[in-house]
Amino acid sequence: MNQIKQTLAQLTTSSFITLLFIISTISLSLYSCKPVISVPVPTAGFTASQDSSSYKVTFDASTSKSNSTSIIKYQWNFGDGQNATVTTAITNHTYASSGTYKITLTVTNDQNKDGSAQAQITLATIITPTPIPTGTPDPNNRVNKWSATNLPINLRVSNAFNSSEIALVTTSANTWEAGANNLNFFNVNATTVANKTFSTIYDYLNDTEMGIYKSTAWFVGEPSQTLAICVFEGYLINKDTADEYLRLINFDIVFNYRDHQFRTTDTPSGGKIDFLSVLLHEMGHSLGLNHSAPSFTDSIMKPSVTALENIHSLSPLDQDNIENLYADLITSPAALILDGTNNNNNDNDGSVNSTEDSTPPANGVLIRGYRSLQLDGTIKTKFLNRNH
Ligand SMILES: [Zn+2]
Repeated sequence: MNQIKQTLAQLTTSSFITLLFIISTISLSLYSCKPVISVPVPTAGFTASQDSSSYKVTFDASTSKSNSTSIIKYQWNFGDGQNATVTTAITNHTYASSGTYKITLTVTNDQNKDGSAQAQITLATIITPTPIPTGTPDPNNRVNKWSATNLPINLRVSNAFNSSEIALVTTSANTWEAGANNLNFFNVNATTVANKTFSTIYDYLNDTEMGIYKSTAWFVGEPSQTLAICVFEGYLINKDTADEYLRLINFDIVFNYRDHQFRTTDTPSGGKIDFLSVLLHEMGHSLGLNHSAPSFTDSIMKPSVTALENIHSLSPLDQDNIENLYADLITSPAALILDGTNNNNNDNDGSVNSTEDSTPPANGVLIRGYRSLQLDGTIKTKFLNRNH
């Protein structure tokens, strides 16, 4: 037997890549004093082509010859531990990865004679690029904001809070409004409502009430160090563009009274957390503000608050951010403090085009999410998308 091996050259084309062409010639000679008996022995040969976008290889054994007889069987050893026996010349096999594989083809004719050919193929590595989302902002930094048609927010307060805590809701609302040139964000209803104690945070959105509530059971999966959560809901506007934002329609704030105690006096005491600091932070979230960088230690929106702190006013950064977020609604904004640090919202200009305010947008997707305030500053933002 004489086998001819060919070295493979790997070609790169956009569709199919011819990796290999091999012809194995098998000659049979009988040396005998008897008359020579001609036995038709098949000659195996094949080509192999790798798919341009996968490790699927098409093997074509139609170059195999068998003179006057028929080839009835093609036995493939693909070199990766896999074998196949087929009755047609063309077959394919998908490899798990790139690499060099030694292929053996054995063809059998109808006289039950075999011929074999071997060759190596080297599969090109297929790189599947990660799709690059064009113009899609990071959902964790997505801008949330209210439109004028939904302001002021009619805000309720649970009767589970004491009178000092309840009074601070108005204080907090006034603080944010003053920061936005007295834009009327909140209508704090003087009449308290029954406390809500849902077992999952999103359940708070399933009523017509926007409020501030107390939880003494807290939520499965939420760490004990979480002080409070602002859960929100809104319509996605300008999806996949640089102006993408969530047009808020609903929110609720829940305090973690299972794991923490809160104080309404400024003097640190027994690890109690300052109620107004947490409330201002959560109401900032309810207006759409994200977290400030932890380095802004005077920002009410920094992602942590300790039992020793009292943050009762907006920092210059907080004021910048709330003004920029609602610049389209503020008729005569105060002079912005151009400190170059207005970076906690990725909105381009804070504006809302008039065409964006249809209610709800026909192609709007209702999105829920929440932001929580953690003792140690862990930033936790979740979004739950659902079809409207
Ligand atoms: Zn927060």
